[in-house]
Amino acid sequence: MSGEAIRVRFAPSPTGPLHIGGVRTALYNFLFARQHNGKFILRIEDTDRNRFVPGAEEYIIKSLSWCGIQFDEGVHLGGPFGPYRQSDRKHLYKQYIDILVENEHAYYAFDSHDDLEEAHEKNPNFQYDALSRMKMCNSLTLPKEEVKRRIAAGEPYVVRALIPIDIVIRVNDLIRGEVEVESKTLDDKVLFKSDGMPTYHLANIVDDHLMEITHVIRGEEWLPSAPLHVLLYEFFGWEKPQFAHLPLLLRPDGNGKLSKRDGDRLGFPVYPLEWTDPKTGEKSMGYRESGYYPEAFINMLALLGWNPGTEQEIFSLDELIDAFSLERVGKSGSRFDPEKAKWFNQQYLRKRSDDELTQEFIPILKNLGVDCSWEYVKESIHLVRERVSFVKEIWDQGWFFFKPPEKYDEEVIKKRWKPETSQILQKFSDTLLHLDTFDQVHLDETIQNFLQENAVEMGALMSPLRICLTGGAIGPHLTEIMALIGKEETLHRIETALKKINH
Ligand code: GLU
Repeated sequence: MSGEAIRVRFAPSPTGPLHIGGVRTALYNFLFARQHNGKFILRIEDTDRNRFVPGAEEYIIKSLSWCGIQFDEGVHLGGPFGPYRQSDRKHLYKQYIDILVENEHAYYAFDSHDDLEEAHEKNPNFQYDALSRMKMCNSLTLPKEEVKRRIAAGEPYVVRALIPIDIVIRVNDLIRGEVEVESKTLDDKVLFKSDGMPTYHLANIVDDHLMEITHVIRGEEWLPSAPLHVLLYEFFGWEKPQFAHLPLLLRPDGNGKLSKRDGDRLGFPVYPLEWTDPKTGEKSMGYRESGYYPEAFINMLALLGWNPGTEQEIFSLDELIDAFSLERVGKSGSRFDPEKAKWFNQQYLRKRSDDELTQEFIPILKNLGVDCSWEYVKESIHLVRERVSFVKEIWDQGWFFFKPPEKYDEEVIKKRWKPETSQILQKFSDTLLHLDTFDQVHLDETIQNFLQENAVEMGALMSPLRICLTGGAIGPHLTEIMALIGKEETLHRIETALKKINH
């Protein structure tokens, strides 16, 4: 591929939020472009105005920018091949459809909606194709003058591709190899409408050609369109780009394509950022709002469909750029695993320093109305960081560093709080009162001495003590908690628990 200037594009239609499958398509294009020192373009394919959703284009741009996926040219950046939004390129397409009609690769069709419905009613397998087209109302069946008259009179029409009857179309796919399709299985797709708008197929091919796209890397759902696209390139006599159709992202159980409904049902996001439907106001979760790091999200997505051929799982964006190859993209669908997604986030969280995590956690504390010193927050985080996958989980694992328990776990009390417990705790509390250096070393020593002197079992003191300090049975080492919250707070929590639990 050396010598050739690689140009790839991500070409979403602004019909809603960007699904994670779309983010993965953008990511693979980006990695491919960067690896080959090529250019990566964002083109908005909005020819279908009926499916246009306000805010979707902005959402797509924001999402990819959050992911760290950068473009060289595009609707938001401009560039030498602009405009990059198809509705702004409307004036360009007519001349190309004219070429196709002139060379008898396309024809005008005037069939009304009702005529087409009727054809479908008569034959549910009806296709507008080589077998049926001569029975329909189009420029192949009407006299030339009549066609001219209808167009001049402003009658609505579409322009359809004239698919050759009996040829084999070969699509060379970098992932799937050569795919052969018989032309008779294709229908005469609509390429252009009398309102002056091209359909997806025509605009897509014309733009890929004009924008000098060398590789079309897109989702598998576009594979059925590829034979028509190849034909269009041949009709125009243009050089074809290389195609690579990426495997689908599958539901966690492997049955079918991953959809928003699966995410809602199983409680994981399928969109990079939170999305509010402009019509219904319904909100959908986003990876960002769920606490994912963009690096973790991207790393996880990169491995859904591509594998490096080694055991390595953690890749920075730069490492992905080096390691990625289309040859190592699989043909079969990749099952999405929400637990693995969390695991990736945990790996990236573990790479963060205590200070970085403190910086990320302090705004969460502020929201909860907690105001503590940087050092105090940092020490708390240090004690629980191994137990969390997300920064917001630090609160779930360590809230007791910031406030006393409001209630005590009944189950744990039933098991661990014995008739002699209060007496032991009271005595232990008196011992602590005299301890001057309240650090972990001295606390461990004090506890050992206390247990020996009073012939008390370790569990008989430590379990109830944990209930007093944290309300339950989990958390980091107890003397670490005591040392951090300090003597006064420790004594206070024991006193409160003794009052509340015994009555
Ligand atoms: N506009 C199409 C989409 O929404 C683009 C398909 C392609 O990349 O050719 O996915």
